[in-house]
Amino acid sequence: MQTRFSPEQLADPDIAEANDILRACVHCGFCTATCPTYLLTGDELDSPRGRIYQIKDMLEADRPPSASEVTHIDRCLSCLSCMTTCPSGVHYMHLVDHARTHIERRWVRPLRDRFLRSMLGRVLPGPRLADRILGLARLGAPLVRVMPGPVRRMIALAADCRTGADILSPGVYPAEGERRYRVALMTGCIQQAIDANINAASVRLLRRHGCEVHVAAGAGCCGSVNHHLGQERAARSLAEANIRAWTSIPDGIDAVVVNASGCGTVVKDYGYMFRNDPALADTARSVSDRTRDICEFLDETGLTEATGDATARVAYQSACSMQHGQKLTRQPVDLLRRAGFEVVEPRDAHLCCGSAGTYNIRQGEMADRLRAQKLAALKALAPDYVASGNIGCMVQLRSGLEAPVLHTVELLDWATGGPKPDAVEPEGKRT
Ligand code: SF4
Ligand code: SF4
Repeated sequence: MQTRFSPEQLADPDIAEANDILRACVHCGFCTATCPTYLLTGDELDSPRGRIYQIKDMLEADRPPSASEVTHIDRCLSCLSCMTTCPSGVHYMHLVDHARTHIERRWVRPLRDRFLRSMLGRVLPGPRLADRILGLARLGAPLVRVMPGPVRRMIALAADCRTGADILSPGVYPAEGERRYRVALMTGCIQQAIDANINAASVRLLRRHGCEVHVAAGAGCCGSVNHHLGQERAARSLAEANIRAWTSIPDGIDAVVVNASGCGTVVKDYGYMFRNDPALADTARSVSDRTRDICEFLDETGLTEATGDATARVAYQSACSMQHGQKLTRQPVDLLRRAGFEVVEPRDAHLCCGSAGTYNIRQGEMADRLRAQKLAALKALAPDYVASGNIGCMVQLRSGLEAPVLHTVELLDWATGGPKPDAVEPEGKRT
């Protein structure tokens, strides 16, 4: 694609990067075939190629976006399916991230939007604050019918919270038996408030696996909530806190282990995020290089022997951030099979379930249509359990399925000597 940035514009490293990405696009349109929003609306402006053109126009002219451009870029899920499909290696993720920051700086949203986005950017990154807000939302459940759409969706989210484990405190959780690895576990933010069982299962599984698990004080949200809202300053501040916390662990660590693939995609990109920051570039790169999704880590280092207690039919729902963001498709499925489960995958597994961070709160109608498609595909498999490696997808799907929706590590933990997950229904129950 031809671009017409001026030399002055290209002196900005972010514009220079956008220019390189834009020039890699040959407008072939292959990406449109796998873009969930284009498949729903049939509108080229809701396709990756259409968005690339809109971003190019906006950045080249160095102008505020139009209302239409904001609408179509806001509708992008950041599912990155287009990046998996693109034969030219167009780095759409970095381009749309840049566009979102540009929109945030140059566009004044309606008051209601500003309030919602500000609230999401402030509440979700803090697990304890999110816990309190979700508690309040549960109290508001009787008023759900008169609430505006985004609030209704927050209340639905609150209703799907699972209790049973406490938010993990910072500290060192020693390896069981001989210590083989020292790892930092990213405990995250909203995931802890919604389902603390995931971190509890991760710690048990890693310790049984010979890992000394560090939960670093000062580490928290990866920054992705703010990042995807275009709130770049807040995102960088959270990312910097994580980098400093993990690199301050005495004697170092072998890996940063992440159990939410949406967060893992962002942490693996810290090196890019801080590439122009002389004080943090090298450290951020070293953190990104050592970051592993928990299934990727267990696959690389060998899963603990399965006990044979857990056998069932599991429908594996691969999060977009897992399959497109991190390109991890084989590992979770292999691990579940090695642990004794029968694993099946839904049709159109490459398409998003509509969760996409805060998308299902901000873009309810599109999210609901994608959710309905995914639920139908999963129900057709008649699974005992549904497994996913990302809290967003789990919450998006839970209320629509009879089969319990669990994190992959909860099943792996159970199959290798851990407790049966509390959400598991009696053996033999099927959708
Ligand atoms: S597939 Fe890649 S090169 Fe083709 S239009 Fe889409 S982004 Fe551009
Ligand atoms: S990230 Fe997903 S929704 Fe956005 S343009 Fe790419 S395929 Fe479409």
